[in-house]
Amino acid sequence: MPQEVLECPAIWIAGASCSGCSVSLLNSVSPTIKNILIDPVIPGKHVNLRFHATIMAGQGEPVLRVMLETAEVKRGEYLLLVEGAIPTADDGLYCTIGELEGKHLTMKEAVLELAEGAMAVISVGTCASFGGIPSGSPNPSGAKSVREVLEEGGLSKPLINVPGCPPHPDWLVGTIAMLLIKGIPSPDELDAALRPKAFFGKLIHDNCPRRAYFDTGQFARHPGEPGCLYELGCKGPVTYADCPLRMWNNGVNWCIGAGSPCIGCVEPTFPDKLQPIFKKLDESALERFKISAR
Ligand code: SF4
Ligand code: SF4
Repeated sequence: MPQEVLECPAIWIAGASCSGCSVSLLNSVSPTIKNILIDPVIPGKHVNLRFHATIMAGQGEPVLRVMLETAEVKRGEYLLLVEGAIPTADDGLYCTIGELEGKHLTMKEAVLELAEGAMAVISVGTCASFGGIPSGSPNPSGAKSVREVLEEGGLSKPLINVPGCPPHPDWLVGTIAMLLIKGIPSPDELDAALRPKAFFGKLIHDNCPRRAYFDTGQFARHPGEPGCLYELGCKGPVTYADCPLRMWNNGVNWCIGAGSPCIGCVEPTFPDKLQPIFKKLDESALERFKISAR
């Protein structure tokens, strides 16, 4: 007898973003995006993506109505996925996601309204998680993270941040699968930045295959050279993610493997406090992490 499949409705909205987080998910290899959209993500549970502006065929007011109807009919049951930061200056007017009866629906309004009835909210990528590049100084649009917007709006909702510029597809699919299997994560499954420790619990520097170069003071002078990339600005000593173990593009390679410093793209301090990209971390950052470079 075929197993009954339960549907988890999901709404994905995007604000101040480059759509790279969506593209990263579309590149998921195992499961493929087709599997994610059509098949159960875990046995017996299927994510029914009801709204995603980049990949859905529909457009305009009718699809906004589907989004709002989902929020009403599936209240308390749906997942809200937010990609991109939320511009808040001038009441959010710098980012609208559509028009309803001739009136702009701003990203800020959409986040607050949809989060209110969601089972949980997932911030997809560093811009949604921490503000990211859109909130970089001088931030004329007043771009903020989902967490800030929910807190300022007085909304208390289960929130999980899955940062990355973009996030690895496994981080997002794995987080959704964890939610469907175990429910809302307990506080000790998330770090202080609300990232799942399963993916963001380890320091890049501690798992880096170039660590022996660092410990013995052998530093690359140019990108692409062998040696530790610390002198070239590598932020691996202050960045928590499993990139060295998981790697990217179906395990083909990753930033440091390709000879480029880690730029700390998953950190709340990215980009303002981790730039310039090719500037060496100052000693105080190493001191905080009790790391010493020869
Ligand atoms: S500084 Fe960067 S390249 Fe060097 S060991 Fe640490 S993470 Fe690897
Ligand atoms: S290695 Fe660093 S910059 Fe590259 S994806 Fe991982 S956290 Fe981001």
